[in-house]
Amino acid sequence: MSGGINVGILAVQGDVAENILATKMAIEELGMEGIVTEVKTPEQISDLDGLIIPGGESTVIGTLSLVNGSLKKIKEKIASGMPVFGICAGMIMLSKKAKDRVVGEMDQPLLDFLDIKIERNAFGRQKDSFESEISMDKIGVSKFHGVFIRAPSIIETGKDVEILSKFNEKIIAVKQGNVIGTAFHPELTGDISLHKYFVNLIKQKN
Ligand code: GLN
Repeated sequence: MSGGINVGILAVQGDVAENILATKMAIEELGMEGIVTEVKTPEQISDLDGLIIPGGESTVIGTLSLVNGSLKKIKEKIASGMPVFGICAGMIMLSKKAKDRVVGEMDQPLLDFLDIKIERNAFGRQKDSFESEISMDKIGVSKFHGVFIRAPSIIETGKDVEILSKFNEKIIAVKQGNVIGTAFHPELTGDISLHKYFVNLIKQKN
């Protein structure tokens, strides 16, 4: 890691630019060296020390990443210990099972890493998007502004999964090994404490 860390934001669909900015700020505030780039191809992904899968539409992100081979590469990299942060649709992508609250089970490509079952759109559709204060004491973030946009919730967790946060009895943030997932969008708040936490995970690994 002589030239600093190399963090990628999966740029298939979703809010990529906001995550680039938040991650760059996190690296800078931590006084570290590193680059943050958009990644799309398996080749770009293979060079990474850490990856963020942003929010968007999980069926679109999954289908396109399957077609160009990046899904397989991400799986390999997770297996080799690369930290990954999945945000909203990104967390859905990392899960092993997802069903929609209304539509039910769909045949969508998933990374099958996080031992969790997801309910997509658990809080309702676009009009039911909302914001609320939440906390993630376990990782030292006691107060965080949660922005929930067509957010999923986690309805089942396996034994290796650490629950980081709940809102109204619903699980909204988890960690399993080097992989974290949130149902809300930290990149839309101006608060970079979660991005800093993720950058530190990458640093510990390198
Ligand atoms: N509802 C979207 C999905 O199921 C996720 C929404 C988001 O990422 N903000 O993929």
